[in-house]
Amino acid sequence: MQLELTTAGILVVALFGLLVGSFLNVVIVRRGRLDWQERGSLDGRSACPNCGHHISWYENLPLISWLALRGRCRSCKQRISARYPLVEALTAVLWGCVAAAAGSVGDLVTGVVFVSVLVPVTFIDLDIQIIPDEINYVAIFAGFACSLGFGPQPRFVAQEWWWVEVIVAALGAAGFLLLPAIVTRGKGMGMGDIKLAVALGAFLGAPVAVGLFAGFLLGLLPSIYLLVTRGMAKGRKSKIPFGPFLALGGVFGWFAGADLLDAYLRLGA
Ligand SMILES: [Zn+2]
Repeated sequence: MQLELTTAGILVVALFGLLVGSFLNVVIVRRGRLDWQERGSLDGRSACPNCGHHISWYENLPLISWLALRGRCRSCKQRISARYPLVEALTAVLWGCVAAAAGSVGDLVTGVVFVSVLVPVTFIDLDIQIIPDEINYVAIFAGFACSLGFGPQPRFVAQEWWWVEVIVAALGAAGFLLLPAIVTRGKGMGMGDIKLAVALGAFLGAPVAVGLFAGFLLGLLPSIYLLVTRGMAKGRKSKIPFGPFLALGGVFGWFAGADLLDAYLRLGA
């Protein structure tokens, strides 16, 4: 189904992104702490972690409430992390960008699901250097469901064997990460990253190659920085989560992957 959204349409999609971002904050807080098992289920009521003050709906409006409360709990004035509005705004911007670039309903739905998975992956991995299995499995399932369910998409290279491309991209992406994972003995890259790569391939198809390449380039920068500033021995020991870079690369792959891959393939022909 062809689709071209007006500015108003894009803004509506971004607004939905804001709401989803607020839900993603809950996922990040409940899953991003090492003691997450002790914390209630996802539907538990929100409360201030400092004073236990129950947060009412008007104190819980995405972005607006944080700004209105000037980033402090209404009851005890404890600072509320700026990460909450940041995650909400980021999700809204990503949803808006997906909507602006979408050429079909399949593009729009797959794109917003894709970025909504990558946001919690990024922040949880930054928090605890783990990408939870349940998020990776949801991502892998959603990726295949969207890519295979909506049929051939413009981002795919093989328009006739598009479903083979999706499967090969998912397996290939995992295989590509397996080698550095073995070489670094899971220190630079873990199983969580490999599972995330499967999801990236499922969502992107062949353009996942561009996404992985971008992710590796971005991921190398902090490693080089640490090697230079802290020296070989210490730099190699410091643990940098790779998930956020894979996520960034994935977003890049979504928006620019198909065009870059197309240009590259034409150069070769
Ligand atoms: Zn409080």
